[in-house]
Amino acid sequence: MPHDTPLIATIVAGLGLAFVFGTIAQRFRIPPLVGYLLAGVAVGPFTPGFVADQALATELAELGIILLMFGVGLHFSLNDLLSVRAIAVPGAVVQIAVATLMGLGLALLMGWTIGAGLVFGLALSVASTVVLLRALQERRLMDTERGKIAVGWLIVEDLAMVLALVLFPAVASFQGGNGVALVSDPLAVRFGFGLTGVLVLTLIKIAVFIALMLVVGRRLIPWILHYIAHTGSRELFRLTVLAIALCIAFGSTKLFGVSLALGAFFAGMMLRESPLSQRAAQETLPLRDAFAVLFFVSVGMLFDPLSVIREPWPLIATLFVIVVSKSLAALLIVLVFRHPLTTALTISASLAQIGEFSFILAELGVALNLLPKAGRDLILAGAIFSIMLNPLVFAAIDWLTSRLEKPQASSPAPATSEPIPITGLTDHTILVGYGRVGSLVGDALHQRNAPFLAVETSDDTVAKLKERGIEALMGNAVRASVLRATNPAAARALVIAIPEAFEAGQIVEQARAANADLQIIARAHSDAEVDHLKGLGADIVIMGEREIARGMIEELERRQPDASTQAA
Ligand code: AMP
Repeated sequence: MPHDTPLIATIVAGLGLAFVFGTIAQRFRIPPLVGYLLAGVAVGPFTPGFVADQALATELAELGIILLMFGVGLHFSLNDLLSVRAIAVPGAVVQIAVATLMGLGLALLMGWTIGAGLVFGLALSVASTVVLLRALQERRLMDTERGKIAVGWLIVEDLAMVLALVLFPAVASFQGGNGVALVSDPLAVRFGFGLTGVLVLTLIKIAVFIALMLVVGRRLIPWILHYIAHTGSRELFRLTVLAIALCIAFGSTKLFGVSLALGAFFAGMMLRESPLSQRAAQETLPLRDAFAVLFFVSVGMLFDPLSVIREPWPLIATLFVIVVSKSLAALLIVLVFRHPLTTALTISASLAQIGEFSFILAELGVALNLLPKAGRDLILAGAIFSIMLNPLVFAAIDWLTSRLEKPQASSPAPATSEPIPITGLTDHTILVGYGRVGSLVGDALHQRNAPFLAVETSDDTVAKLKERGIEALMGNAVRASVLRATNPAAARALVIAIPEAFEAGQIVEQARAANADLQIIARAHSDAEVDHLKGLGADIVIMGEREIARGMIEELERRQPDASTQAA
Protein backbone atom coordinates (compact mmCIF):
# COMPACT_ATOMS: atom_id res chain seq x y z
CA MET A 1 0.00 0.00 0.00
CA PRO A 2 2.51 2.69 0.98
CA HIS A 3 4.32 1.98 -2.29
CA ASP A 4 1.37 3.39 -4.17
CA THR A 5 1.71 6.74 -2.45
CA PRO A 6 5.43 7.37 -1.96
CA LEU A 7 4.97 11.13 -1.62
CA ILE A 8 2.48 10.79 1.22
CA ALA A 9 4.55 8.06 2.87
CA THR A 10 7.63 10.29 2.77
CA ILE A 11 5.84 13.31 4.20
CA VAL A 12 4.17 11.26 6.93
CA ALA A 13 7.33 9.41 7.90
CA GLY A 14 9.36 12.63 7.78
CA LEU A 15 7.01 14.78 9.83
CA GLY A 16 5.98 11.94 12.19
CA LEU A 17 9.51 10.91 13.10
CA ALA A 18 10.65 14.52 13.25
CA PHE A 19 7.93 15.12 15.80
CA VAL A 20 9.04 12.15 17.92
CA PHE A 21 12.78 12.88 17.73
CA GLY A 22 12.22 16.61 18.08
CA THR A 23 10.23 16.10 21.28
CA ILE A 24 12.89 13.79 22.69
CA ALA A 25 15.61 16.33 21.85
CA GLN A 26 13.62 19.09 23.54
CA ARG A 27 13.27 16.89 26.65
CA PHE A 28 17.05 16.73 26.84
CA ARG A 29 17.27 20.49 26.32
CA ILE A 30 18.87 20.07 22.89
CA PRO A 31 17.41 22.18 20.05
CA PRO A 32 14.65 20.18 18.24
CA LEU A 33 16.53 20.75 15.00
CA VAL A 34 18.97 18.04 16.06
CA GLY A 35 15.96 15.74 16.49
CA TYR A 36 14.81 16.45 12.92
CA LEU A 37 18.27 15.64 11.56
CA LEU A 38 18.36 12.38 13.54
CA ALA A 39 14.87 11.51 12.26
CA GLY A 40 16.35 11.87 8.78
CA VAL A 41 19.20 9.54 9.69
CA ALA A 42 16.63 7.01 10.93
CA VAL A 43 14.66 6.95 7.66
CA GLY A 44 17.81 7.27 5.56
CA PRO A 45 19.49 4.51 3.55
CA PHE A 46 22.38 4.10 6.02
CA THR A 47 20.25 2.79 8.88
CA PRO A 48 18.14 -0.40 8.89
CA GLY A 49 14.35 -0.37 8.66
CA PHE A 50 12.08 1.90 6.62
CA VAL A 51 13.86 3.89 3.95
CA ALA A 52 12.07 6.94 2.59
CA ASP A 53 12.18 7.89 -1.09
CA GLN A 54 15.33 9.96 -1.35
CA ALA A 55 14.48 11.72 -4.60
CA LEU A 56 11.14 12.85 -3.25
CA ALA A 57 12.65 13.89 0.04
CA THR A 58 15.18 16.03 -1.81
CA GLU A 59 12.46 17.81 -3.75
CA LEU A 60 10.44 18.44 -0.59
CA ALA A 61 13.61 19.77 0.98
CA GLU A 62 13.98 22.19 -1.91
CA LEU A 63 10.57 23.62 -1.00
CA GLY A 64 11.76 23.86 2.59
CA ILE A 65 14.85 25.80 1.50
CA ILE A 66 12.75 28.18 -0.59
CA LEU A 67 10.50 28.98 2.34
CA LEU A 68 13.40 29.18 4.81
CA MET A 69 15.28 31.61 2.63
CA PHE A 70 12.09 33.56 2.07
CA GLY A 71 11.88 33.93 5.85
CA VAL A 72 15.52 35.03 6.05
CA GLY A 73 14.85 37.70 3.41
CA LEU A 74 11.70 38.77 5.22
CA HIS A 75 13.65 39.35 8.42
CA PHE A 76 16.58 40.96 6.75
CA SER A 77 16.58 44.42 8.24
CA LEU A 78 19.00 47.00 6.98
CA ASN A 79 18.33 49.23 9.98
CA ASP A 80 19.18 46.56 12.54
CA LEU A 81 22.33 45.92 10.64
CA LEU A 82 23.28 49.59 10.41
CA SER A 83 22.84 50.16 14.13
CA VAL A 84 25.54 47.62 14.98
CA ARG A 85 27.62 47.81 11.80
CA ALA A 86 30.70 49.18 13.55
CA ILE A 87 31.29 45.85 15.25
CA ALA A 88 29.19 43.38 13.21
CA VAL A 89 30.81 44.02 9.84
CA PRO A 90 34.49 43.73 10.81
CA GLY A 91 33.61 40.94 13.24
CA ALA A 92 31.82 38.81 10.69
CA VAL A 93 34.43 39.45 8.01
CA VAL A 94 37.34 38.46 10.25
CA GLN A 95 35.47 35.44 11.58
CA ILE A 96 34.59 34.24 8.08
CA ALA A 97 38.21 34.73 7.02
CA VAL A 98 39.53 32.74 9.99
CA ALA A 99 37.05 29.88 9.54
CA THR A 100 37.54 29.76 5.78
CA LEU A 101 41.33 29.70 6.07
CA MET A 102 41.23 26.96 8.69
CA GLY A 103 38.70 24.99 6.63
CA LEU A 104 40.90 25.42 3.59
CA GLY A 105 43.94 24.22 5.52
CA LEU A 106 42.04 21.18 6.74
CA ALA A 107 40.82 20.43 3.22
CA LEU A 108 44.34 20.66 1.79
CA LEU A 109 45.57 18.31 4.54
CA MET A 110 42.93 15.82 3.40
CA GLY A 111 44.14 16.18 -0.18
CA TRP A 112 41.17 18.11 -1.61
CA THR A 113 41.39 20.89 -4.20
CA ILE A 114 41.58 24.57 -3.26
CA GLY A 115 38.03 25.07 -4.60
CA ALA A 116 36.77 22.30 -2.34
CA GLY A 117 38.63 23.86 0.57
CA LEU A 118 37.05 27.25 -0.01
CA VAL A 119 33.51 25.83 -0.15
CA PHE A 120 34.23 23.73 2.93
CA GLY A 121 35.71 26.65 4.86
CA LEU A 122 32.89 29.01 3.95
CA ALA A 123 30.33 26.40 5.00
CA LEU A 124 32.03 26.18 8.40
CA SER A 125 32.02 29.93 8.83
CA VAL A 126 28.29 30.70 8.81
CA ALA A 127 26.13 30.03 11.86
CA SER A 128 22.53 28.84 11.73
CA THR A 129 19.90 31.56 12.04
CA VAL A 130 17.37 29.07 13.42
CA VAL A 131 19.72 27.94 16.20
CA LEU A 132 20.99 31.42 17.02
CA LEU A 133 17.55 33.04 17.28
CA ARG A 134 16.29 30.20 19.44
CA ALA A 135 19.29 30.35 21.76
CA LEU A 136 18.92 34.12 22.16
CA GLN A 137 15.17 33.95 22.69
CA GLU A 138 15.49 31.20 25.26
CA ARG A 139 17.86 33.39 27.26
CA ARG A 140 15.81 36.53 26.62
CA LEU A 141 18.81 38.18 25.01
CA MET A 142 17.06 39.34 21.83
CA ASP A 143 16.57 42.92 22.98
CA THR A 144 19.92 43.30 24.67
CA GLU A 145 22.87 45.03 23.07
CA ARG A 146 24.69 41.68 22.94
CA GLY A 147 21.75 40.05 21.21
CA LYS A 148 21.53 42.80 18.61
CA ILE A 149 25.22 42.56 17.85
CA ALA A 150 24.96 38.77 17.47
CA VAL A 151 21.99 39.08 15.09
CA GLY A 152 23.64 41.86 13.06
CA TRP A 153 26.81 39.81 12.85
CA LEU A 154 24.81 36.84 11.58
CA ILE A 155 23.12 39.01 8.96
CA VAL A 156 26.54 40.02 7.63
CA GLU A 157 27.52 36.34 7.50
CA ASP A 158 24.27 35.52 5.68
CA LEU A 159 24.91 38.28 3.18
CA ALA A 160 28.40 36.98 2.52
CA MET A 161 26.91 33.52 1.93
CA VAL A 162 24.27 34.93 -0.41
CA LEU A 163 27.10 36.46 -2.40
CA ALA A 164 28.88 33.11 -2.34
CA LEU A 165 25.76 31.37 -3.66
CA VAL A 166 25.67 33.79 -6.60
CA LEU A 167 29.34 33.56 -7.34
CA PHE A 168 29.98 29.84 -6.84
CA PRO A 169 28.61 28.71 -10.20
CA ALA A 170 30.62 31.41 -11.93
CA VAL A 171 33.79 30.47 -10.10
CA ALA A 172 33.12 26.77 -10.56
CA SER A 173 33.16 27.12 -14.34
CA PHE A 174 36.75 28.25 -14.04
CA GLN A 175 37.71 25.55 -11.61
CA GLY A 176 37.08 22.62 -13.88
CA GLY A 177 33.72 21.85 -12.28
CA ASN A 178 30.53 21.68 -14.30
CA GLY A 179 29.58 25.22 -13.45
CA VAL A 180 29.15 26.35 -17.05
CA ALA A 181 25.98 24.35 -17.39
CA LEU A 182 24.59 25.86 -14.20
CA VAL A 183 25.60 29.45 -14.83
CA SER A 184 23.17 29.54 -17.76
CA ASP A 185 24.42 32.98 -18.58
CA PRO A 186 24.11 33.37 -22.32
CA LEU A 187 25.64 36.85 -22.24
CA ALA A 188 28.81 35.61 -20.60
CA VAL A 189 29.05 32.68 -22.96
CA ARG A 190 28.38 34.76 -26.10
CA PHE A 191 31.01 37.34 -25.32
CA GLY A 192 33.41 34.80 -23.91
CA PHE A 193 33.80 36.68 -20.64
CA GLY A 194 36.61 35.74 -18.30
CA LEU A 195 36.18 35.19 -14.59
CA THR A 196 36.19 38.92 -13.78
CA GLY A 197 33.69 39.53 -16.55
CA VAL A 198 31.27 36.99 -15.14
CA LEU A 199 31.68 38.40 -11.64
CA VAL A 200 31.05 41.96 -12.80
CA LEU A 201 28.04 40.85 -14.83
CA THR A 202 26.64 39.06 -11.78
CA LEU A 203 27.06 42.13 -9.63
CA ILE A 204 25.37 44.32 -12.26
CA LYS A 205 22.44 41.91 -12.33
CA ILE A 206 22.12 42.14 -8.57
CA ALA A 207 22.08 45.93 -8.80
CA VAL A 208 19.34 45.83 -11.45
CA PHE A 209 17.38 43.46 -9.30
CA ILE A 210 17.60 45.72 -6.26
CA ALA A 211 16.35 48.67 -8.31
CA LEU A 212 13.45 46.54 -9.54
CA MET A 213 12.81 45.41 -6.00
CA LEU A 214 12.41 48.94 -4.77
CA VAL A 215 9.79 49.70 -7.41
CA VAL A 216 7.87 46.42 -7.36
CA GLY A 217 8.30 45.83 -3.65
CA ARG A 218 7.27 49.30 -2.55
CA ARG A 219 4.52 49.96 -5.08
CA LEU A 220 3.15 46.98 -6.95
CA ILE A 221 3.01 44.34 -4.23
CA PRO A 222 1.36 46.54 -1.57
CA TRP A 223 -1.16 47.59 -4.23
CA ILE A 224 -2.04 43.96 -5.08
CA LEU A 225 -2.31 42.99 -1.42
CA HIS A 226 -4.48 46.00 -0.68
CA TYR A 227 -6.75 45.09 -3.57
CA ILE A 228 -7.07 41.45 -2.45
CA ALA A 229 -7.69 42.48 1.16
CA HIS A 230 -10.77 44.29 -0.13
CA THR A 231 -12.29 41.01 -1.22
CA GLY A 232 -12.58 40.08 2.44
CA SER A 233 -11.43 36.52 1.82
CA ARG A 234 -8.59 35.59 4.15
CA GLU A 235 -7.96 32.41 2.29
CA LEU A 236 -7.45 34.27 -0.94
CA PHE A 237 -5.21 36.76 0.84
CA ARG A 238 -2.88 34.09 2.19
CA LEU A 239 -2.80 32.43 -1.19
CA THR A 240 -1.87 35.75 -2.80
CA VAL A 241 1.07 36.24 -0.46
CA LEU A 242 2.35 32.74 -1.08
CA ALA A 243 1.84 32.98 -4.82
CA ILE A 244 3.67 36.32 -5.00
CA ALA A 245 6.54 34.90 -2.96
CA LEU A 246 6.90 31.77 -5.07
CA CYS A 247 6.52 33.63 -8.35
CA ILE A 248 9.20 36.18 -7.47
CA ALA A 249 11.48 33.38 -6.30
CA PHE A 250 10.96 31.36 -9.45
CA GLY A 251 11.03 34.40 -11.72
CA SER A 252 14.30 35.73 -10.38
CA THR A 253 15.79 32.25 -10.61
CA LYS A 254 14.96 32.12 -14.31
CA LEU A 255 15.87 35.73 -14.97
CA PHE A 256 19.18 35.80 -13.17
CA GLY A 257 20.23 32.19 -13.40
CA VAL A 258 20.63 32.02 -9.62
CA SER A 259 19.53 29.25 -7.28
CA LEU A 260 15.94 28.98 -6.09
CA ALA A 261 17.16 29.56 -2.56
CA LEU A 262 18.55 32.92 -3.57
CA GLY A 263 15.45 33.82 -5.56
CA ALA A 264 13.39 33.18 -2.45
CA PHE A 265 15.69 35.36 -0.38
CA PHE A 266 15.13 38.19 -2.86
CA ALA A 267 11.37 37.60 -2.72
CA GLY A 268 11.46 37.95 1.06
CA MET A 269 13.46 41.17 0.79
CA MET A 270 10.95 42.52 -1.70
CA LEU A 271 8.02 41.85 0.57
CA ARG A 272 9.88 43.46 3.42
CA GLU A 273 9.99 46.74 1.54
CA SER A 274 6.53 47.66 2.77
CA PRO A 275 5.69 47.10 6.45
CA LEU A 276 2.14 46.06 5.56
CA SER A 277 3.31 43.43 3.11
CA GLN A 278 5.79 42.20 5.64
CA ARG A 279 3.09 41.54 8.17
CA ALA A 280 1.05 39.78 5.54
CA ALA A 281 4.00 37.63 4.61
CA GLN A 282 4.27 36.39 8.18
CA GLU A 283 1.15 34.39 7.33
CA THR A 284 3.28 32.02 5.29
CA LEU A 285 5.58 31.23 8.20
CA PRO A 286 3.68 28.18 9.53
CA LEU A 287 4.02 26.62 6.11
CA ARG A 288 7.69 27.44 6.18
CA ASP A 289 8.15 25.74 9.53
CA ALA A 290 6.55 22.52 8.29
CA PHE A 291 8.64 22.36 5.14
CA ALA A 292 11.80 23.43 6.94
CA VAL A 293 11.37 20.34 9.11
CA LEU A 294 11.27 18.21 5.96
CA PHE A 295 14.41 19.98 4.79
CA PHE A 296 16.28 19.02 7.94
CA VAL A 297 14.96 15.45 7.72
CA SER A 298 16.18 15.11 4.16
CA VAL A 299 19.57 16.51 5.12
CA GLY A 300 19.74 13.88 7.85
CA MET A 301 18.98 11.20 5.25
CA LEU A 302 22.19 12.06 3.43
CA PHE A 303 24.28 11.46 6.50
CA ASP A 304 26.11 8.20 7.02
CA PRO A 305 26.56 7.79 10.79
CA LEU A 306 29.26 5.16 10.32
CA SER A 307 31.47 7.70 8.57
CA VAL A 308 32.05 9.28 11.97
CA ILE A 309 33.38 6.03 13.39
CA ARG A 310 35.39 5.20 10.29
CA GLU A 311 37.21 8.53 10.32
CA PRO A 312 36.86 10.40 13.59
CA TRP A 313 39.82 12.76 13.17
CA PRO A 314 38.52 14.89 10.31
CA LEU A 315 35.28 15.37 12.27
CA ILE A 316 37.12 16.35 15.44
CA ALA A 317 39.19 18.84 13.45
CA THR A 318 36.02 20.23 11.81
CA LEU A 319 34.34 20.63 15.18
CA PHE A 320 37.44 22.35 16.47
CA VAL A 321 37.18 24.92 13.68
CA ILE A 322 33.46 25.49 14.30
CA VAL A 323 33.38 25.57 18.08
CA VAL A 324 36.85 26.65 19.19
CA SER A 325 38.59 28.68 16.47
CA LYS A 326 35.51 30.61 15.38
CA SER A 327 34.69 31.44 19.00
CA LEU A 328 38.20 32.57 19.83
CA ALA A 329 38.29 34.78 16.73
CA ALA A 330 34.92 36.35 17.66
CA LEU A 331 35.99 36.81 21.28
CA LEU A 332 39.16 38.62 20.35
CA ILE A 333 37.48 40.92 17.85
CA VAL A 334 34.73 41.94 20.26
CA LEU A 335 37.30 42.63 22.97
CA VAL A 336 39.47 44.63 20.56
CA PHE A 337 36.41 46.81 19.93
CA ARG A 338 36.27 47.40 23.69
CA HIS A 339 32.99 45.69 24.42
CA PRO A 340 32.65 43.97 27.80
CA LEU A 341 33.72 40.37 28.25
CA THR A 342 30.13 39.15 28.81
CA THR A 343 29.17 40.57 25.40
CA ALA A 344 32.16 38.91 23.78
CA LEU A 345 31.38 35.55 25.38
CA THR A 346 27.68 35.63 24.43
CA ILE A 347 28.49 36.47 20.82
CA SER A 348 31.12 33.74 20.60
CA ALA A 349 28.74 31.15 22.00
CA SER A 350 25.85 32.15 19.73
CA LEU A 351 27.97 31.75 16.64
CA ALA A 352 29.73 28.52 17.63
CA GLN A 353 27.56 26.32 15.41
CA ILE A 354 26.64 25.81 11.76
CA GLY A 355 23.32 24.92 10.14
CA GLU A 356 21.03 25.45 7.19
CA PHE A 357 23.23 27.78 5.15
CA SER A 358 26.11 25.35 5.42
CA PHE A 359 23.87 22.55 4.10
CA ILE A 360 22.79 24.72 1.18
CA LEU A 361 26.41 25.58 0.38
CA ALA A 362 27.45 21.95 0.72
CA GLU A 363 24.67 20.82 -1.63
CA LEU A 364 25.62 23.42 -4.21
CA GLY A 365 29.29 22.53 -3.85
CA VAL A 366 28.57 18.85 -4.50
CA ALA A 367 26.25 19.68 -7.42
CA LEU A 368 28.98 21.82 -9.00
CA ASN A 369 31.57 19.08 -8.50
CA LEU A 370 33.54 21.47 -6.33
CA LEU A 371 33.18 19.61 -3.06
CA PRO A 372 33.70 15.85 -2.58
CA LYS A 373 30.82 13.94 -0.93
CA ALA A 374 33.06 13.36 2.09
CA GLY A 375 33.07 17.14 2.55
CA ARG A 376 29.29 17.22 2.70
CA ASP A 377 29.32 14.37 5.26
CA LEU A 378 31.78 16.31 7.40
CA ILE A 379 29.69 19.47 7.20
CA LEU A 380 26.55 17.54 8.17
CA ALA A 381 28.27 15.83 11.08
CA GLY A 382 29.85 19.11 12.12
CA ALA A 383 26.43 20.77 12.13
CA ILE A 384 24.73 18.00 14.09
CA PHE A 385 27.44 17.90 16.76
CA SER A 386 28.00 21.65 17.01
CA ILE A 387 24.26 22.27 17.43
CA MET A 388 24.14 19.58 20.11
CA LEU A 389 27.13 21.13 21.86
CA ASN A 390 25.72 24.66 21.71
CA PRO A 391 23.71 24.54 24.95
CA LEU A 392 26.85 23.22 26.67
CA VAL A 393 28.89 26.09 25.24
CA PHE A 394 26.35 28.53 26.70
CA ALA A 395 26.47 26.75 30.05
CA ALA A 396 30.26 27.02 29.97
CA ILE A 397 30.20 30.78 29.33
CA ASP A 398 27.61 31.27 32.09
CA TRP A 399 29.99 29.50 34.43
CA LEU A 400 32.97 31.47 33.13
CA THR A 401 31.21 34.81 33.50
CA SER A 402 30.17 34.06 37.06
CA ARG A 403 33.75 33.06 37.82
CA LEU A 404 35.34 36.06 36.18
CA GLU A 405 32.97 38.60 37.65
CA LYS A 406 33.20 37.19 41.15
CA PRO A 407 36.35 39.01 42.29
CA GLN A 408 34.66 42.40 41.79
CA ALA A 409 31.47 41.38 43.59
CA SER A 410 31.44 42.14 47.30
CA SER A 411 29.92 38.93 48.65
CA PRO A 412 31.39 35.60 47.59
CA ALA A 413 28.72 33.11 46.56
CA PRO A 414 28.85 29.52 45.28
CA ALA A 415 29.84 29.38 41.60
CA THR A 416 26.74 27.45 40.57
CA SER A 417 24.04 29.97 41.48
CA GLU A 418 24.19 33.53 40.19
CA PRO A 419 25.12 35.95 42.92
CA ILE A 420 22.40 38.59 42.57
CA PRO A 421 22.40 40.76 45.68
CA ILE A 422 19.00 40.88 47.39
CA THR A 423 17.41 44.32 47.52
CA GLY A 424 17.43 46.26 50.79
CA LEU A 425 13.85 47.45 50.25
CA THR A 426 11.00 46.29 52.47
CA ASP A 427 7.27 46.95 52.26
CA HIS A 428 7.94 47.77 48.62
CA THR A 429 6.26 47.13 45.27
CA ILE A 430 7.90 44.81 42.76
CA LEU A 431 7.23 45.82 39.18
CA VAL A 432 7.95 43.19 36.54
CA GLY A 433 8.29 44.58 32.99
CA TYR A 434 8.88 48.25 32.19
CA GLY A 435 7.35 48.43 28.70
CA ARG A 436 4.19 50.20 27.54
CA VAL A 437 2.26 49.11 30.62
CA GLY A 438 4.93 48.84 33.32
CA SER A 439 6.48 52.24 32.59
CA LEU A 440 3.18 54.02 33.31
CA VAL A 441 2.78 52.15 36.59
CA GLY A 442 6.42 52.79 37.50
CA ASP A 443 6.27 56.50 36.74
CA ALA A 444 3.18 56.83 38.94
CA LEU A 445 4.95 55.04 41.80
CA HIS A 446 8.04 57.18 41.30
CA GLN A 447 6.04 60.42 41.48
CA ARG A 448 4.42 59.26 44.68
CA ASN A 449 7.83 58.42 46.13
CA ALA A 450 6.57 54.90 46.85
CA PRO A 451 9.40 52.41 47.38
CA PHE A 452 9.60 50.12 44.36
CA LEU A 453 11.91 47.96 42.32
CA ALA A 454 11.65 47.20 38.61
CA VAL A 455 12.66 43.94 36.93
CA GLU A 456 13.39 44.08 33.22
CA THR A 457 15.00 41.78 30.66
CA SER A 458 16.11 44.68 28.47
CA ASP A 459 19.46 46.04 29.60
CA ASP A 460 18.83 49.37 27.87
CA THR A 461 15.72 49.95 29.97
CA VAL A 462 17.53 48.98 33.16
CA ALA A 463 20.37 51.38 32.36
CA LYS A 464 17.91 54.24 31.76
CA LEU A 465 16.07 53.51 35.02
CA LYS A 466 19.29 53.50 36.98
CA GLU A 467 20.22 56.86 35.46
CA ARG A 468 16.97 58.24 36.83
CA GLY A 469 17.85 56.85 40.24
CA ILE A 470 15.21 54.10 40.13
CA GLU A 471 16.22 50.73 41.53
CA ALA A 472 16.13 48.22 38.69
CA LEU A 473 17.15 44.62 38.31
CA MET A 474 18.20 43.21 34.97
CA GLY A 475 16.95 39.68 34.31
CA ASN A 476 14.02 37.41 33.62
CA ALA A 477 11.67 37.47 36.60
CA VAL A 478 10.75 33.85 35.92
CA ARG A 479 14.20 32.79 37.10
CA ALA A 480 14.16 31.90 40.77
CA SER A 481 17.45 33.71 41.45
CA VAL A 482 16.11 36.94 39.98
CA LEU A 483 12.79 36.82 41.78
CA ARG A 484 14.49 36.00 45.08
CA ALA A 485 16.63 39.14 44.71
CA THR A 486 13.45 41.28 44.71
CA ASN A 487 12.77 40.11 48.26
CA PRO A 488 9.13 39.09 47.68
CA ALA A 489 8.79 37.83 51.27
CA ALA A 490 9.09 41.40 52.60
CA ALA A 491 7.24 43.14 49.75
CA ARG A 492 3.80 44.74 49.86
CA ALA A 493 2.72 44.22 46.25
CA LEU A 494 3.77 42.62 42.99
CA VAL A 495 2.71 44.09 39.65
CA ILE A 496 3.32 41.80 36.68
CA ALA A 497 3.18 43.97 33.56
CA ILE A 498 4.44 41.52 30.93
CA PRO A 499 2.34 40.25 28.03
CA GLU A 500 3.23 36.55 28.17
CA ALA A 501 0.75 34.65 30.38
CA PHE A 502 2.73 31.45 30.85
CA GLU A 503 5.71 33.41 32.14
CA ALA A 504 3.47 35.61 34.27
CA GLY A 505 1.94 32.42 35.71
CA GLN A 506 5.36 31.13 36.72
CA ILE A 507 6.10 34.40 38.48
CA VAL A 508 2.74 34.43 40.28
CA GLU A 509 3.27 30.87 41.47
CA GLN A 510 6.75 31.49 42.90
CA ALA A 511 5.86 34.82 44.50
CA ARG A 512 2.75 33.38 46.11
CA ALA A 513 4.83 30.55 47.57
CA ALA A 514 7.25 33.11 49.02
CA ASN A 515 4.62 35.40 50.53
CA ALA A 516 0.99 34.47 51.23
CA ASP A 517 -0.06 38.09 51.96
CA LEU A 518 1.50 39.71 48.91
CA GLN A 519 -0.95 41.65 46.76
CA ILE A 520 -0.42 40.32 43.24
CA ILE A 521 -1.76 42.27 40.25
CA ALA A 522 -1.21 40.75 36.82
CA ARG A 523 -1.87 41.56 33.18
CA ALA A 524 -3.75 39.36 30.69
CA HIS A 525 -5.11 39.45 27.16
CA SER A 526 -7.86 36.82 27.22
CA ASP A 527 -10.37 35.26 29.62
CA ALA A 528 -8.42 32.00 29.62
CA GLU A 529 -5.31 33.88 30.74
CA VAL A 530 -7.28 35.60 33.50
CA ASP A 531 -8.41 32.20 34.81
CA HIS A 532 -4.91 30.76 34.52
CA LEU A 533 -3.32 33.59 36.53
CA LYS A 534 -6.06 33.68 39.17
CA GLY A 535 -5.79 29.91 39.55
CA LEU A 536 -2.10 30.29 40.36
CA GLY A 537 -2.69 32.90 43.06
CA ALA A 538 -3.02 36.35 41.48
CA ASP A 539 -5.39 38.62 43.42
CA ILE A 540 -6.37 40.88 40.57
CA VAL A 541 -5.92 40.28 36.87
CA ILE A 542 -6.48 43.18 34.51
CA MET A 543 -7.43 42.13 31.04
CA GLY A 544 -5.94 44.64 28.56
CA GLU A 545 -8.56 44.27 25.85
CA ARG A 546 -11.41 44.77 28.32
CA GLU A 547 -9.85 48.05 29.52
CA ILE A 548 -9.43 49.22 25.94
CA ALA A 549 -13.11 48.54 25.34
CA ARG A 550 -13.99 50.38 28.54
CA GLY A 551 -12.04 53.41 27.33
CA MET A 552 -13.80 53.33 23.99
CA ILE A 553 -17.24 53.08 25.60
CA GLU A 554 -16.42 56.02 27.86
CA GLU A 555 -15.47 58.10 24.83
CA LEU A 556 -18.70 57.17 23.09
CA GLU A 557 -20.76 58.04 26.14
CA ARG A 558 -19.02 61.37 26.51
CA ARG A 559 -20.25 62.33 23.04
CA GLN A 560 -23.61 60.64 23.42
CA PRO A 561 -25.51 63.86 24.31
CA ASP A 562 -24.49 65.45 20.98
CA ALA A 563 -25.43 62.36 19.03
CA SER A 564 -28.85 62.08 20.68
CA THR A 565 -29.70 65.76 20.14
CA GLN A 566 -28.72 65.37 16.53
CA ALA A 567 -30.88 62.27 16.19
CA ALA A 568 -33.81 64.08 17.84
P1 AMP B 1 4.97 45.97 26.98
O1 AMP B 1 4.25 44.80 26.34
O2 AMP B 1 5.25 47.10 26.03
O3 AMP B 1 4.28 46.44 28.25
O4 AMP B 1 6.43 45.46 27.36
C1 AMP B 1 6.66 44.40 28.27
C2 AMP B 1 8.03 44.59 28.90
O5 AMP B 1 8.26 43.52 29.80
C3 AMP B 1 9.18 44.62 27.91
O6 AMP B 1 9.94 45.76 28.16
C4 AMP B 1 9.98 43.33 28.23
O7 AMP B 1 11.37 43.56 28.11
C5 AMP B 1 9.60 43.04 29.66
N1 AMP B 1 9.57 41.61 29.99
C6 AMP B 1 8.94 40.64 29.29
N2 AMP B 1 9.05 39.45 29.92
C7 AMP B 1 9.77 39.67 31.05
C8 AMP B 1 10.20 38.84 32.14
N3 AMP B 1 9.92 37.53 32.15
N4 AMP B 1 10.91 39.41 33.14
C9 AMP B 1 11.18 40.74 33.12
N5 AMP B 1 10.79 41.57 32.14
C10 AMP B 1 10.09 41.06 31.12
